[in-house]
Amino acid sequence: MHDDFDLAARVAADRELWPDFLAICDCGGRLAGTESETCAFALVEERAEAATGVKGRSIPVPYGGWRAKRASLRLPGGAEALCRALVRSIATPPGGLTAEVVDLGRGTPEEFAAHANDLKGRIALVRHELMFVAGTIHRRRKYLAAREAGAVGFLIAGPLPGQLVAGSSGRQDGDGIPAAGIAPETAAVLRRTARGWPTATLTIETEECLAETRTLLFDMPGRSDEWVVLSAHVDGHDGGESAMDNASGLAAALAAARALTPHLGGFRRGVRLAFFSVEEWALTGSAQYVQSLTAAERQHIVLNVNLDSVGGSPNLAALTSGFAGVEPFLHNIAQTNGIALRTVRPLMQNSDHANFALAGIPAIRLVAGFDEPGANLRLVLTPADTRDKVEADELRCSAVLAATIVGAACNENAAVVARWRRTDFH
Ligand SMILES: [Zn+2]
Repeated sequence: MHDDFDLAARVAADRELWPDFLAICDCGGRLAGTESETCAFALVEERAEAATGVKGRSIPVPYGGWRAKRASLRLPGGAEALCRALVRSIATPPGGLTAEVVDLGRGTPEEFAAHANDLKGRIALVRHELMFVAGTIHRRRKYLAAREAGAVGFLIAGPLPGQLVAGSSGRQDGDGIPAAGIAPETAAVLRRTARGWPTATLTIETEECLAETRTLLFDMPGRSDEWVVLSAHVDGHDGGESAMDNASGLAAALAAARALTPHLGGFRRGVRLAFFSVEEWALTGSAQYVQSLTAAERQHIVLNVNLDSVGGSPNLAALTSGFAGVEPFLHNIAQTNGIALRTVRPLMQNSDHANFALAGIPAIRLVAGFDEPGANLRLVLTPADTRDKVEADELRCSAVLAATIVGAACNENAAVVARWRRTDFH
């Protein structure tokens, strides 16, 4: 039998957690395809090898590479506003796309429906919203609604004055509409007036080519061929440190691995430490990984514990992806460790755990600041996602919870584990 207290105590005494977090932030925003992402992978590989004593195994991940060479927005009156092309946005014509802008506020389905006759041939303007809250409407859904309504462009305004918001358009290949993040003051200038909808010119120049990144795996076998997968994504966005999202998850996963490693030979199940990339590009790395697994391999993964944005608030939630059966287990572990944990059941396709869940593998995401509009997590995807938004204690608490959940999942008896898989989707 393993000892929760020992795992928690090991993480509590871990002196490398905070330096790891800072070193990952030092790599920069880690946008896929940049030097910053490559540097972070090399660092994580070295740190994970040191943590586990195992050599990493890299699986190539081909994906549609993309780079914005230029993005600008000319406002009514001729002033140029800063904007950032959303990941995988298509280019505009070289002279720019000139069209009227329809402000849809938040961009709810109701707002899109009410403006169904206004959007054809115009640019849709919506707001970025807090991602870590029940009922959040993902940027990709708004982008798709704009396209379906016949809009020719898409603008999304961030929450932070003077700062652009980043994110993916969700487009993979083929058709799309030019899409960019803007600052809230820019959105204010684009409001409708007595003269009508304002006219703006959006210019985006891009470069696309087939690119390749990797999934990095560290296998620490237990006494059976069953696994618990502990995962975190390496990639992020330009213009900051992607500190909460997801240097926090990477550092916590490394600390959890250090605490677990000395025990593993004696555990019933093994731990597979997985570092994914192109998560910010429609969860591509983990999608390819889960697709590559055989039915038997999927059956042998009893749980995915995905760490994404686990600092920035002291309050932790586990998104349980519809796997209600895993919730009592999680509450037990949290209570044993004196951690207040909230479980949130609906499947949220906002990180790599979703690909495991969709394949029928019990999968949870640990996240900080869920349903907390004032938490630092509101700054994720902006240049303000920097190291100063995370407290060392928050990171430690997340790492303790991750280590103890994974440790207990490795040893839980087969009857309990069978209950985790029971859900209403397969
Ligand atoms: Zn993330």
